[in-house]
Amino acid sequence: MNKIKNTLKIKGYDQFKCTADKCNFTCCRGWDINVDTKTYNKWREKDNLNYILDNVRFVKSYGENKYLIKKETKGGCPFLSNEGLCNIVINHGDEYLSSTCRTFPRIENDFEDVKELTLSCSCPEVVNIISDMKDKIYIDFNESLSYIEELGCLKIRESLVNILQKEDISIENKLIISYDMLFNMLNSDDLTYEDLIELLEKYKSKNYIKEELDKYKEYENKDTIGDLKEINSLFIDIIENYRNVSIFKEYLKDIYNFTEKISIKNLFKEWNNFKDLFKKYDNLIENCIVSKVLSNCTSDDLEEMIISFEIIILEYLLIRHALFLRYCINVTKEINIQEIKDYVVIFSRIIGNNSEAVIEFLLDMFESEILEFNYISALILS
Ligand code: SF4
Repeated sequence: MNKIKNTLKIKGYDQFKCTADKCNFTCCRGWDINVDTKTYNKWREKDNLNYILDNVRFVKSYGENKYLIKKETKGGCPFLSNEGLCNIVINHGDEYLSSTCRTFPRIENDFEDVKELTLSCSCPEVVNIISDMKDKIYIDFNESLSYIEELGCLKIRESLVNILQKEDISIENKLIISYDMLFNMLNSDDLTYEDLIELLEKYKSKNYIKEELDKYKEYENKDTIGDLKEINSLFIDIIENYRNVSIFKEYLKDIYNFTEKISIKNLFKEWNNFKDLFKKYDNLIENCIVSKVLSNCTSDDLEEMIISFEIIILEYLLIRHALFLRYCINVTKEINIQEIKDYVVIFSRIIGNNSEAVIEFLLDMFESEILEFNYISALILS
């Protein structure tokens, strides 16, 4: 008999409501829509649904067979009506949607007898909910549930969240110290559960964090222009294939064209002013990062956990860089909260929800899925 699961939800979960045809970033455009095998078979088995299969393509990715919806030339789902509604729902009902379409932006993670429900920042309504939060984001926790104590990966996730939510430490330093903690685990041979708990315990102390951070002082302001150039190259390489996608064009094309023409050295004088302005939005950025950690850093394989966190760092770097370029273009020399929210959604889709392609990119560029600690630190601290 199936055990009844306790369900825990991320703060704001029940507030989510899809705005459908009023959404500027409809989830039916701009990325691959996966069709699960169960839904594919449902469409195949019923004669009146067979026509849907004409709009499905088959791909082999990392040895797995996958079905994807064939996109139209403008990157949209062929079932999206002119009014921005889904024709599969209109004609056949919700139960014939693929699991991705039915659940997005909800994310479910199952741990023994606990089900955690979180939300993806790829949806603008989710980012609106997070942006309205005055305090820190968390998953409702029931003290009587011991599942976190029993699973090493969740103890690691808990420590990441603790570090990311510490007061009086900059976001940049919190990302570095979190990555440092993961690397220390990776470099410890034969780490037992007890060793793990001992190591995680150290990162609860502000003094220990300060000592660790002091070790990385040498990266600070070493060659900031060089690091900014490096982020700029990453930015160009990564968004090259997305700048003409209809849903992203308005947000990416002008900054892409701008960055191709300018010299980063000449923009450098704007960098510190920009960083001071960006700091004002630390609360929103921190809550988005923590929300991603809660949803994605759940693997019991340490390397997978590190890759998930590294992808969150990459998203942060690209959001910050896109906003820097937007700030340089804006004659008013300002950034506004709507621009931040838009880029959180865009890079959650380009990077976070596209992890297989990002990993392939990292392997091509750096011959490793896990980037060196010194490299990542320098980019964060630029
Ligand atoms: S992105 Fe979010 S708000 Fe927009 S259509 Fe999809 S689920 Fe609805």
